[in-house]
This record gives sequence, structure tokens and C-alpha cells, in this order.
Amino acid sequence: MNARPKKSFGQHFLHEKRYIERIVSAVAPRDGDTVVEIGPGEGALTLPLLAAARQLTAIELDTDLIPALAVRAAAVGKLEIIQADVLKVDFRTLAKRLGAAQLRVAGNLPYYISSPILFHCVEHADAIQDMHFMLQKEVVERMAAAPGSKVYGRLSVMLQLACRVTPLFDVPPEAFRPPPKVDSSVVRLVPLPPAERHDADPERLYNIVKAAFAQRRKTLSNGLKQQMSADAIRQAGVDPGARAETLSPQEFVSLAKVAVAHAEQS
Ligand code: SAM
Repeated sequence: MNARPKKSFGQHFLHEKRYIERIVSAVAPRDGDTVVEIGPGEGALTLPLLAAARQLTAIELDTDLIPALAVRAAAVGKLEIIQADVLKVDFRTLAKRLGAAQLRVAGNLPYYISSPILFHCVEHADAIQDMHFMLQKEVVERMAAAPGSKVYGRLSVMLQLACRVTPLFDVPPEAFRPPPKVDSSVVRLVPLPPAERHDADPERLYNIVKAAFAQRRKTLSNGLKQQMSADAIRQAGVDPGARAETLSPQEFVSLAKVAVAHAEQS
């Protein structure tokens, strides 16, 4: 199978065996796991994952790739292919339909929508046991960055508040057909257990993090002017003169909680 890869679908097919093997051993699927793959493409990861888990659900947007993949998978295990945009798939409904408490999600993601896919998965984190994704190396660095780092930002805060983020290994462009212009990395995301999840209002938190990093060179009292007063920032235990990039994810949670309390009082 050598379909012409479509740029508009972010198609870069993995062909180097040793990276395929490393990804499959990082996922370590077991017979009975409910594995869901995002973007199976020509099946580089699908077939070895299917061989280990015996059944797998794959979500693929490109209708042209589906018939050949179904034929190749038939001798390996039970593959269900959902033709859909993954952003429209409700993982909670899918888990219920598959009779699974939680899904194991994996994929060599289409880079043009990698952040929306990450946020979509985080929104469904309670239906997910773990995720293994191939992404641009630069995106994985931002996801795992600590406060104070130049690449620490919205993605770092929102993902670290929902998951344990572990970068695993890098993959060079030559491992793909066609090679992407950037280096890639594989990352593991494990949703936090309920007791460790934040209890701030999600929309308020999202808006505060977004506003704070939209003006990352400004002080928080400036950047969050529309959201909360300097006094309210102080009440959250945060210095209004600080910059967003120095705050821990937990400090953003404190800001969101105080902002909600103030909005309720006024
Ligand atoms: N898993 C294959 C591999 O490793 O060789 C293909 C990976 S390729 C980087 C990304 C795959 O995601 C392509 O098959 C592409 O058609 C599919 N894709 C792109 N946009 C998608 C979307 N919105 N929802 C589901 N799949 C999508």
C-alpha cells in the first residue's frame, strides 16, 4: 500500500520499523484492552497494536484509506474503523458503547490539529486510561515545560492540570513518508486520578490562562485586567506584579477560584 499522502490531512506515514516497535512497546497493549487509535492511515501502528490487543477501534477522516486498511486488518484481529473527524467523537459515548470503563488512546497525530485534539482528549479525560501520541517535538516540549521555561504556556498549564505528561523519545523526519519539516517526539499522558484533579470552574480557568499568556510580557494585573482586580489576584496568594510564565499550574487554579468568588459577590 502506497497511497499518495495528503498534505491537507497531515499525512506522514511512519515506515521505520524500530520506531513503530518502540511506540507499540510504550503502549504495551494487552489482550482485552480497549484501544482507540486516532488517524490509523495505512496501518503502521494499527496492525501491531491490533495483534497485541486483538481488537481495536480506529478513527480515520480520510475515506480513501479505509478499504485497504480493513482488508489488511482482517487476518490480524477485530478492527472497527470509524470514519469521522476525531474532534467530533465523544470518547465517553464511545467507551460506553465499547463496554469499557476507560479507553487507551494512541496515535501518530495529524500535526495541523494536534492542539485541538489534545484539548478534546483532556475534556474527556475521565473516559481515558492513558494516551500515547506522536507529536511535533516542539509541542511535546511545550506540554512538559515547567514554570520559568521560555516555552511554558497555555498548553503546559492546561495539560499538566489534567494529566501526568511524560516525554518518551524523539523520532527523526526520515522515519516518515513524506518526511515532515520538523522533528517529532512520542509522549505519554496519564489523566490524574479524581482526587488530584482541580476543582476550579473549567471555563473561568481556561479564560484566565488564555488572557494571562496572551500578554506574557505584561504583569498579571495588566494581563488579567478584564478578569480580576489586583486585590483579587493578591487574595489568591499571587503577586499581581508577577508574569504568567512564573506561575505554577496550581496558582492558576487559585486565581480562577478567587475570580469566581468575586464574580458571585458582585
Ligand atoms: N498512523 C499512521 C502512521 O503512523 O503512519 C498515519 C499518521 S498521519 C501523521 C495522521 C493520520 O490522521 C492520517 O491518516 C490522516 O488521514 C488522519 N487524520 C487527519 N485529520 C484527522 C481527523 N480530524 N480525524 C481523524 N483522523 C484524521
